[in-house]
Amino acid sequence: DRTVRQIAAGEVVERPASVVKELVENSLDADAGRISVAVDAGGTEGVRVRDDGVGMDRESVRRAVEEHTTSKIDGIDDLEAGVGTLGFRGEALHTIGAVARLAIRTKPRARPTDDASDRSSGGRDASGTELRVEGGEVTGVDPAGCPVGTVVEVEDLFFNTPARKKFLKTTATEFDHVNTVVTHYALANPDVAISLEHDGREVFATEGRGSLRSAVLSVYGREVAESMIDVGYEPSVDGSDSDAASDGGPIDRVRGLVSHPETTRSTREYLSTFVNGRYVTDAVLREAVLEAYDGQLAGDRYPFAVLFVDVPADTVDVNVHPRKMEIRFDDESGVRAAVADAVRTALLDEGL
Ligand code: ADP
Ligand code: MG
Repeated sequence: DRTVRQIAAGEVVERPASVVKELVENSLDADAGRISVAVDAGGTEGVRVRDDGVGMDRESVRRAVEEHTTSKIDGIDDLEAGVGTLGFRGEALHTIGAVARLAIRTKPRARPTDDASDRSSGGRDASGTELRVEGGEVTGVDPAGCPVGTVVEVEDLFFNTPARKKFLKTTATEFDHVNTVVTHYALANPDVAISLEHDGREVFATEGRGSLRSAVLSVYGREVAESMIDVGYEPSVDGSDSDAASDGGPIDRVRGLVSHPETTRSTREYLSTFVNGRYVTDAVLREAVLEAYDGQLAGDRYPFAVLFVDVPADTVDVNVHPRKMEIRFDDESGVRAAVADAVRTALLDEGL
């Protein structure tokens, strides 16, 4: 049973970045306005994610680390209806707990009916809970004084699965993966203040003010932010926009930012594309962006792009890849043409 658990864990938790991804998704699902991620040694020594979300009461946090428990769906009907939250399998905390030392400190938001005792103690009384799990066993559930919200600490990842631990790469590589994950959530959620710290040093912190441009400024810096050009493309309702994205076309909407053709890097990793709100690494979308620059990029140089593409849910297969970073469009060439057209229009509007 323990072996089964540890094997299953590998599908969710491959490396520190996968822990970070699951924890940040939970914080977003918990309606957090602020999420702080801190990792040590690329996450191989420790991962801590703190949020100011809805928190959990004692019973909920006990349940949260059990197998296949989720508060996010209510049976098969919900599954078929499609879920709005990011996680719904109810296995992340359980599987992380099986391959690491896990500590959760959490306190639920006061409900309107609760009395004022919380406020008189500055919101830090002991009505929080600390729960500890080691290698799949709950080793403690205790009252804890903590602010409203949740802190999840993961230490000694894979301490009990040495074979998996051997697959971890260098600290620098593992941190790159963590940075990529947190960056994409920060860009996709500009209304949430998201920060990343590595070995005690701040890497970036978004302000959560809601604008994509301000998130780009926090993540990529001023030079890149100032070079960014708005992409906005919505088919008109009356269908007078005869291009690819009119009613019933391959895309509903494209919006985001792309950089001036002179603000580039030597890697494609700054081409960030999101389909229906989810980060994806999709060659069709990347090619569409590059095509729009129409030969204006210097050899082997790639622009920055943060593009949100909305397509009808039934025209995209998100199950191509288990971790859902790869997708397949029904109408690949239609999507490609529409996205390239949107980006080219934005560049043309700037005289480029
Ligand atoms: P899932 O996200 O698929 O439901 P998880 O194992 O990631 O499964 O989480 C289990 C449950 O724990 C969630 O359904 C949620 O109720 C609770 N939970 C996890 N993280 C948080 C958090 N940061 N804030 C509030 N509740 C949380
Ligand atoms: Mg989850």
